[in-house]
Amino acid sequence: MATGSGLRRLRAPPRLPPARGCSSGPAGLSPALLRPDGFVGGRWVRPAAAFPVLDPASGASLGSVADCGAPEARQAVRAAHEAFGRWKRVAAKERSSLLRKWYDLMIQNKEELAKIITAESGKPLKEAEGEVVYAALFLEWFSEEARRIYGDIIYPPARDRRALVLKQPLGVAAIITPWNFPSAMITRKVGAALAAGCTVVVKPAEDTPFSALALAELANQAGIPAGVYNVVPCSQKKAKEVGEALCTDPLVSKISFTGSTATGKVLLHHAANSVKRVSMELGGNAPFIVFDSANVEQAVAGAMASKFRNSGQTCVCSNRFLVQKGIHDSFVKKFAEAMKGQLHVGNGFEERTTQGPLINQRAVEKVEAQVSDAVSKGATLVLGGKRHTLGHNFFEPTLLSNVTRDMLCSQEETFGPLAPVIKFNTEEEAVAIANATDVGLAGYFYSQDPAQIWRVAEQLEVGMVGVNEGLISSVECPFGGVKQSGLGREGSKYGIDEYLEIKYVCLGGL
Ligand code: ADP
Repeated sequence: MATGSGLRRLRAPPRLPPARGCSSGPAGLSPALLRPDGFVGGRWVRPAAAFPVLDPASGASLGSVADCGAPEARQAVRAAHEAFGRWKRVAAKERSSLLRKWYDLMIQNKEELAKIITAESGKPLKEAEGEVVYAALFLEWFSEEARRIYGDIIYPPARDRRALVLKQPLGVAAIITPWNFPSAMITRKVGAALAAGCTVVVKPAEDTPFSALALAELANQAGIPAGVYNVVPCSQKKAKEVGEALCTDPLVSKISFTGSTATGKVLLHHAANSVKRVSMELGGNAPFIVFDSANVEQAVAGAMASKFRNSGQTCVCSNRFLVQKGIHDSFVKKFAEAMKGQLHVGNGFEERTTQGPLINQRAVEKVEAQVSDAVSKGATLVLGGKRHTLGHNFFEPTLLSNVTRDMLCSQEETFGPLAPVIKFNTEEEAVAIANATDVGLAGYFYSQDPAQIWRVAEQLEVGMVGVNEGLISSVECPFGGVKQSGLGREGSKYGIDEYLEIKYVCLGGL
């Protein structure tokens, strides 16, 4: 339970933040779901400090949110630890039905949740609705998996023995999430954790805490017991202290993080001292290879979907387009036409918008720096290339050709609407370029040659491959990377293992 350390409990309903700012949206946000306080031990809590959440489309404040610090983080861990003692003993079927109720509530509140996502992340409302469904499906999926946590029976050499393998929940999981999928990055972890019998403390990204808090409201309504799902929002300034408090606390058994590789490494250091289990979903540098045998229309459609979802701000977005010389000119021409015809930059609440703003000025500056670096080294600007006339965090969808491997846009994850095209001659060359990076999350390629499809799918050093497909995420399939893109898998039948411990029990004297 949350007591002391400057933490003040509020009786429901708490004061609400003013929902103001973006001209065409947030006025319509549901006050019932727009919670400004942290959620610890089943209670809304407010420390002395608060921080503003900004609409990335206008820079206006959407409201102030509780700025939790290390004391609140530790209290949340204690609440989660206390709750774990009870939650792990709740029957799997009951855990399953509570997760299912949470899923149902997400679907019932789809429109409202989507508006919150659009308001705080800027993504187009249709994409935000898609995210809510995707996020909810993780709760549904893991509500089903909760009832399928099986052990094993093994026959060892000694005839009077039987070996049992039990799977048991790890304990309290610290969950640190990014802003680009404010809802789905939480449910993908929390669904698995709760299904396994773990409890969680979530630290959402400072840009998008409202989605995590709306989920707390719905978890509460679904009857998820107090202390099982806790949320400690905090400002960017306090992220380091809260992260350290969560990830070094001896009561925390597991860290699950999605975000940058740099932050992931900091958290791995924290985990080392008390040898915590970790799952890391870190940065990528996805290649998108178009071979001469590809169907160019399909490849362009896949490129559009894979590059421009969320204005290029996903870790599985194509980052480098490698196009074989025979199909190169036709692909670049058709890609440019599709970008011109299909992409509409604007406020995410406007019907026509397909490209919202980037999350903040740092993101805009990064894309800008990559474009100017590439052009200064000889790349050709086919389309876009600068800040959009809408101002603030908007950037033009940009296409570069004649890109080479020494340019920043080939080496770094862009996280923005920039598509750089590198021309190559042979399959071997394409695979070598694709693999010449220390990360490996997603990779895509287009080919109609079955032997080539096998060869390349096996050789790409990534955790996920799209063959003639630009969008490959689904709750049923394992999401995760190799190399410095991370550790572990989320979603799918494998995702729940990240929250389970294996215990071997030897029964002797039989
Ligand atoms: P991005 O650069 O995309 O914002 P980050 O890795 O910085 O990615 O952020 C992802 C999440 O990690 C956010 O919730 C952020 O607040 C959190 N975070 C950033 N730095 C730290 C840190 N030192 N310790 C713990 N969490 C952190």
